[in-house]
Amino acid sequence: MAKYFIKTYGCQANKNESERYATYFEQELSLQEASDWREDGVSEILINTCSVRKAADDRVYSLLRAMGEHFLGVKSGKNLTRRPPPARRSSRHLPHVVLTGCMSRYSEAKMKARYPILSQIVPPNSLGFAYQPQRKDPHQAFISISNGCNSFCSYCVVPYARGREQSRPMNDILAEVAQAVASGFTEITLLGQNVNSYGLEKKNIVERKTDFRLRDAVSNFPQNPDQYTKPVGIPPFVKLLQEISAIDAITKIRFMTSNPWDFHDELIAEIGANKKIDRFIHLPVQSGSNRILQKMNRGYTREDYLSLVHKLRAADPNITIGTDIIVGFCSETDADFADTVSLVKEARFIMGFVAIYSPRPSTLAHKMFPDDVPFAVKKKRFEILDNLLNKQQLDKRPVIV
Ligand code: SF4
Repeated sequence: MAKYFIKTYGCQANKNESERYATYFEQELSLQEASDWREDGVSEILINTCSVRKAADDRVYSLLRAMGEHFLGVKSGKNLTRRPPPARRSSRHLPHVVLTGCMSRYSEAKMKARYPILSQIVPPNSLGFAYQPQRKDPHQAFISISNGCNSFCSYCVVPYARGREQSRPMNDILAEVAQAVASGFTEITLLGQNVNSYGLEKKNIVERKTDFRLRDAVSNFPQNPDQYTKPVGIPPFVKLLQEISAIDAITKIRFMTSNPWDFHDELIAEIGANKKIDRFIHLPVQSGSNRILQKMNRGYTREDYLSLVHKLRAADPNITIGTDIIVGFCSETDADFADTVSLVKEARFIMGFVAIYSPRPSTLAHKMFPDDVPFAVKKKRFEILDNLLNKQQLDKRPVIV
């Protein structure tokens, strides 16, 4: 029987999309899943990529190189002095190799020239939501609520790879929740690059589908949120949480990824009152230095972030917070890094992902700022922060404010 193989890198949104492709391959092409791309009979290969750091790209390049050697008997990749010879028709049947995910912003022609095994590049989310995901996690159902991002943080590829934010219609999401419940799931995790601004795309505002005003990176965040008209309605994301938690069978709701600037008071109040919402909130801060936050185009200050943390803990002292931090961003000084360390201590995170900055092609930072922090310094700061966040027994008792 012909088979398919899916290799997924990166975030939960990618994993969720790959689960949908699995259904597509089985339902539409009557293929069987292979556990290794070298298995005989593999006719479809999907590589769902992440491009958050250079290392992520490199992993995909080496996979494509290995596939080129296996199926075509040719060496391929960047360090070739000349184009690889035309593919010698090997005795093996050549699979259809498709690349999607955040590396799909790269030129298909250039990628195919370097990796002749590659058949096609398709943008993320091309499959849409018509196919129910083949859920790999037995405990919780991951459900995508939006794709893309409007925030244009200067180091991030997502807006270029996934496009502008598009929210799924609420009824479609609720229908998928109902299907997950019917399959026995009681825990739901909502996915999006920016879940808090669910349903707040400009068109929804223009069509007055919601009164909320959305910060749009293109017009440079006004630093003072009070410039926004106070909404009369509730944010669509809060409405979605209320609709899902009204389903008796649902015992737990989680969501990722949240962003500080769209974390409205209405959402904090809902989290405080609605005990079905998990008490763990993942809230990337990225830096504790206002100068670096500005350079990252994050749209908030350390004071904004810490007041949000305090508001969350005031809503429920049992709330725990995790975060993401980038060290070694362009021009980060010892003083900037010290600001990040002091913010980490004050916020009392329960855990944190620390990443070393690597410039990403097509991002603002890549175009505008030199990557001028030496790698040895980045590595030192990574160790200090990773130790502080994840190893040292930080006093993680919730702060009663
Ligand atoms: S919020 Fe910023 S970091 Fe997150 S996906 Fe959007 S642009 Fe990237």
